Amino acid sequence: MIGRRMFVCGCAAACLRPTGAGAQPAPASAGPADPALVDDLVAANRILFDQGVVDGFGHVSVRHDKDPNRFLLSRSMAPGLVTPADIMEFDLDSTPIDPRGRGVYLERFIHGEIFRRHPGVMSVVHSHSPAVIPFGVSQVALRPLYHMSAFLGAGAPVFEIRDAAGPASDMLIRDRGLGQALAEAVGDHPVTLMRGHGSVVVAPSVRQAVFRAVYTEQNARMESEALRLGNVMFLNDQEAAAAMATNVSQVDRPWELWRSRVMATR
Ligand SMILES: [Zn+2]
Repeated sequence: MIGRRMFVCGCAAACLRPTGAGAQPAPASAGPADPALVDDLVAANRILFDQGVVDGFGHVSVRHDKDPNRFLLSRSMAPGLVTPADIMEFDLDSTPIDPRGRGVYLERFIHGEIFRRHPGVMSVVHSHSPAVIPFGVSQVALRPLYHMSAFLGAGAPVFEIRDAAGPASDMLIRDRGLGQALAEAVGDHPVTLMRGHGSVVVAPSVRQAVFRAVYTEQNARMESEALRLGNVMFLNDQEAAAAMATNVSQVDRPWELWRSRVMATR
């Protein structure tokens, strides 16, 4: 059970109330987001598809650069097809500012509630990346197998939705209360597994969030393979901390490669 923790939301009754639907219209924001940030978010959507982290489902968000109480997220669509025109602005209740008839993701509350509870988080990836799923439903902890996934040294807790939604949910984070319960489980972990569903990855930038999401999937695949071979030697805490510090300065290197693959076709 090393690195595996189960969480019980302390406000379960309140968590079941969908509080976002009746929210008052949000005031105008401090202005449009930096086009370079929007461009990074578009690239992030496409990279996550190209790298096998998302398919037709999953999403990535970034906190607004001029208003910390807003975030940017695509309209409801396949991430691999996102363009700048599809990027929408939301308040922290996950209410769209200017929907103009565009559909929104059912699970947008993942993003709003994590941004609300964790001011240092600037980007959130939610995916159902396949190699990660077994670690959310078994007793085997997801741990850093190599230096590229050193951020897993902090452990990856498992969010148990039954603790917040009871035994008959459709597994989705479909209201603010469930988003709050998930945000509580995230704590200060870069990666949180969602039992029978997927995972969330958080980071201080959208590029780091993509980096972590890609290497989380790769680590999960390799860990499953290594466990079939026998006993596995993982990074220890000191190695994980040192490798994570090194990797922070290297994030742009794979980003430029990944970006060139997906943005050349625009
Ligand atoms: Zn989902």
